[in-house]
Order: sequence, then structure tokens, then C-alpha cells
Amino acid sequence: MDQETHPFQAEVSRLLGIVTHSLYTNREIFLRELISNASDACDRLRHLAQTSPETGPGEEELRIVLEPDPAASTLTIADNGVGMNRDELIANLGTIARSGTAKFMEELAGDARRDLPLIGQFGVGFYSAFMVADRVSVVSRRAGEAGAWRWDSDGAGSFTTAPAAHDSARGTRVTLHLKDDAQEFLEPHRLQEIVRSYSDHVALPVMLKSAGKEEQINAGRALWTRPKSAITERQYAEFYRHAAHAFDEPWMVLHNRAEGVISYASLLFIPGARPHDLFQPERKHGVKLYVRRVFVTDHCDDLLPGWLRFMRGVVDSEDLPLNISRETLQKNPILAKMRSGLVKRILGELKTKAEAAPEDYAKFWENFGGAIKEGLYEESNERDALLGLVRFRSTGAEGWVSLADYVARMKPGQSLIYTAAGDDPDALKASPQLEGFRARGLEVLLLTDAVDEFWPAMVGGYNGKNFRSVTQGESDLSAFPLLDAATKEAEPPAKGIHSLVALLKLALTDKVKDVRESDRLTDSAVCLVADARDADLHLERLLRQHKRIETRAARILEINPRHPLIRSLAARVSDQGPDLKMDDLALLLLDQAQILEGEPLADPAGFARRLASIMQKGVGA
Ligand code: ADP
Ligand code: MG
Repeated sequence: MDQETHPFQAEVSRLLGIVTHSLYTNREIFLRELISNASDACDRLRHLAQTSPETGPGEEELRIVLEPDPAASTLTIADNGVGMNRDELIANLGTIARSGTAKFMEELAGDARRDLPLIGQFGVGFYSAFMVADRVSVVSRRAGEAGAWRWDSDGAGSFTTAPAAHDSARGTRVTLHLKDDAQEFLEPHRLQEIVRSYSDHVALPVMLKSAGKEEQINAGRALWTRPKSAITERQYAEFYRHAAHAFDEPWMVLHNRAEGVISYASLLFIPGARPHDLFQPERKHGVKLYVRRVFVTDHCDDLLPGWLRFMRGVVDSEDLPLNISRETLQKNPILAKMRSGLVKRILGELKTKAEAAPEDYAKFWENFGGAIKEGLYEESNERDALLGLVRFRSTGAEGWVSLADYVARMKPGQSLIYTAAGDDPDALKASPQLEGFRARGLEVLLLTDAVDEFWPAMVGGYNGKNFRSVTQGESDLSAFPLLDAATKEAEPPAKGIHSLVALLKLALTDKVKDVRESDRLTDSAVCLVADARDADLHLERLLRQHKRIETRAARILEINPRHPLIRSLAARVSDQGPDLKMDDLALLLLDQAQILEGEPLADPAGFARRLASIMQKGVGA
């Protein structure tokens, strides 16, 4: 077969455009990326050998070799790992399969100066080779397959594939034709220095072959097997970037060894930045499973729960059989024990951090709080620990508030934890249903994550205090005095208010479930609330948006008996008696409440007509 030309996927072309034409200050990281890929390839080969021995390494040691060639001005990174066949070369080195790519691409401005820091975070993996090379060729032979394949590109729009020499060994050789300004990467010292700082944790030997000599230039021992005291922060961070394919700093490192009924080592990381796709349903955790230093899989769903899917790192079991298959892994009791041990360990460390460094913890919470809260309804065993970790925006204080903070600030006689759900904390703070709580100094927790709609009902309460939405059910606030009692409570209830309520009920019979006086309100005239038995307002909106329901539950209209408008209406009812024509006014009150709630009006034309007619009366037309 002859040489074939393939276009790069559009995203790759865009990325390469920025990578090749920019002066990236930290371009030595290309070596870290290529060594990381080589090490992954060796891990995968070792694992493959467990299931199909004929593909395995045999007697040969798995390793990575760096070969600078000053005469040709090339640097080759060679591994004897799993290799790639033609289709894999095309798929892996012609597209970006990484999740979150689409969103990342949208964020790129097309201006190198602005985009570079972003790319630094996203990472370009293999394509970083084009920061230092104007041509890259890859020769690879897939384990267990006969022929080898060649991949060539100058990073401008396309690449070629062709069959390679028959005697190619298994594995991959990536050869970089170094740019004129990248000749430093031929110098043995420079290469050694880069490997020490970025790739020392790689568990295989990294060899430098230069001037006929070969020497190992990394420690070559799995990082998690080394004692904590012998590992620097920098080494942990580089290992994190390698294991997680990440480009940020880890927010927390958890390095532990569990010994007892079961034994395992774990080196886990909480990322410093939130991945783009944290809330995409297919998102999986990024913790790799090893068995006695041999990589087994990075898709072991049961190793950690979904609400810890932001975790990265490795877990290395001493007890599982090496040749365990993904199917038998699933219901394995050892795995279940490791899972619960890991969950406890992670929650314990988070608790310590939350207490010792609340500001730092807030950063974690902003990134991953939305995922942690899913644990409240998925993980009933850990509910208490999780309730200690959750944080909220609140009307009672700036910043993040814990449930313990809330309870400590509760008013005498208060037995409920009040909550309000919505999309945006500021909009929520302004909602009419909160007025009466504010006027009494009752704190309300603002629930702004989608998952907040589901866990409070499931969890029930905290420390014996039940959660209660301010937009649902009756709010008996009369037990709590108003803060400026002198002005408001002194006012006698409006005369005729009961008849007004009765008339409104009559006028709105088929539109609302009930009309009642409210002590939720101080400034607004009206608001809507949900019946205690119906879905809360925000939840219903959410379900409708996601097309999970189509119906709307009828709401309860609450009116503010102290509002001047309501007072004068009540006065008129009591003067003119029950014959008063209320229909338009009643509808307008309901329209108003709906607008406040951000609900679409059932009859906008009718609303406009009613409003115009009232305005006409107002201006005396
Ligand atoms: P990532 O490593 O994050 O998946 P890269 O851009 O670094 O992204 O690599 C893309 C893919 O190319 C890898 O996932 C792997 O499948 C393949 N690949 C790259 N280098 C090698 C190699 N040396 N041996 C085998 N496969 C490789
Ligand atoms: Mg990579």
C-alpha cells in the first residue's frame, strides 16, 4: 500500500495553528507529554499480556529511550509498549478524543496571546511536539500484529500514513525534526534535566542513548511505592499531570497505604481546576487501578462513586488477581472494601481541610461542591459526613455557610432550616417570598445547583431540624417578631381582608389552588407559592425545561395584608360589599405574581389589555 494523505480533524488544525506559531515559554513540556504517552503505552501492554500472553513483553524490559541525533538534528522518543496500527495512528494522532474538547474550542479566541494560557490548562498532549519540531514522524507497530506503520506531518493541515520497514520492533518511535531554535533538546544535559523535573516519577526506566552510551536518567520506581518523605511537592504535581492528563496544580494530594484485611496503596489527587465536563452525564472518575504495580484499567466504575468523579490518581491493590477482567471486577468484594475505605479517607481529609483552612476549602467547594452534593442522595452511609462538608450561599452571611453555621444562628423557637432554590443567588435574594424572612432576621440558604432540588427531600433535615423551602407550603412566621416591630406590626390588619380573600378566590377559582394572607411578604403585594404536596416552583420549572413534565401544578396566591394596594382593595370590598367586580383586578394580581416568579403569562394579550385599562383610569383618560 502506498502513502496516503489524511486531513487533521478541524479542532486539531486549529490547535496546531496556535501551537506552531506561538512562542510558548514552557515548551520543554513536549518531552513530558511524549514520555507520558510512552509510559501509558507500556502500561497498556503489560495489561494486555495478562489476557493474551503472546502479545506480552516476554523477557524484554519495558522502557523508554531518548535518542538525540545531532547530525540529523532529530530527537527520538522510543518505547516498546503496545504500539499503534494504521487505524489507531489515524484516530489517535489525527483527532482529539478528549472530553471537553468542544467546549474548550469555543473558548479559544483565535488570538495567540489570549489563547496560550488556556491551551496551557487544556494541554495539547502529543501535538505539543510541534512546539519544538517542524516535522514529526512516528513509526509504530502494534503488539501482536505483523506490519509497522509510519505517520508523518509538518503540522500544517494534514498527515500521511504509509507502511514502514518490516523489521520494526513492537512499540512506537516518535522522531522530532527539531526547529532551528530548539537545538537545545539535543543536549544530553538538558534532556536529563527535563526528565528529572517532569518525568522522574515514571515507573519505567527512561534511558538516554547518546554518543554510543546508554544510561538511565530517572528513578524508575512507581511514585506511590516510595515513602512520602522522599517525595517532593513538585514530583507529586508532575505525577498528577501525568496520571490525570491534566495541566493544573493539584488542590490536594492524598497518599496512603492501607494494610489489614485488604492491602492497597492509593495516590489520589483533587484537581485545582474544574474540568469542563464535570456535569456531563457520561463523566467517569479518573482513578486508575493497578494490581501489584501492574496497570489494570482506568475504567473501573466501582472503585469510586460518581459524586467523586473529579478524583484523579492511582489505586494499587495487593489482593486482586492480576488477570482480573472488567466483568469479574464489578461485583468483587475486595473492590467494594477499597471503595468504602477510599471514600472515608477522602471525606476525612476534606473535613480536616474544611476546618483548618476554610478559605482554601471554599475554592474546592466552588469547583466540586455540585458533585459532592449528589452524594447526599446517592450515598446514604456517608450522609452525616457529607452534611458536614456542604456549603451554601445564604441571606445570613457573605461567603460560604455550613449547616452548623446556620444552626448556630437560628432564632429562638426556630425549628426549620429555610431554603430557597433558584438559578442565581442574587435573583433569589430579591425574590418576594424571602421578604418576610428577612424582615424577621430569619436566615435562608440559597440553593443554586440543579442537584439541590433532589437531596433536601431525601435527606429530610440536619441535626433534627428539617429543611423547608420558602416557596412551598405554609410559612407560619407569626412566632418570630419583625426586626423593626415599631412600624410594621403596629399596623392593624386591613379591614375587609377576609372578604377580599374570599372574592379573589372566587374570581380565580380555576387559576389557583388557593388564595391566602401571607406573612412571607413585606414589600411586595403578592407572591406565588407551591402547595406542600406539590413540586416546588423552581423544581417544576427545571423539570419542564428538561421536558420531564409538561403540566403545571396550580399554585397558591399569597397576598400581603399590609401592602397599601391590598389595604385599599380590602377597604373597598368592605365599603361596597361582595358585589364588587373583581375579575380584572384579581387577574392582574395573579399576573404580577407570575412575572415576579419569572413564569410566562398564560394570556399576555389579556394582561396588556387589563393593564392598559387600569392605567387609563389612573391618568383619568
Ligand atoms: P492523551 O495522552 O491525553 O490521550 P495525547 O495527545 O498525548 O493524548 O495522545 C493521544 C493518543 O495517542 C493517546 O491516547 C494514545 O492512544 C496514542 N499514543 C500517543 N503516543 C503513543 C505511544 N507512544 N504509544 C501508543 N499510543 C500512543
Ligand atoms: Mg498524552
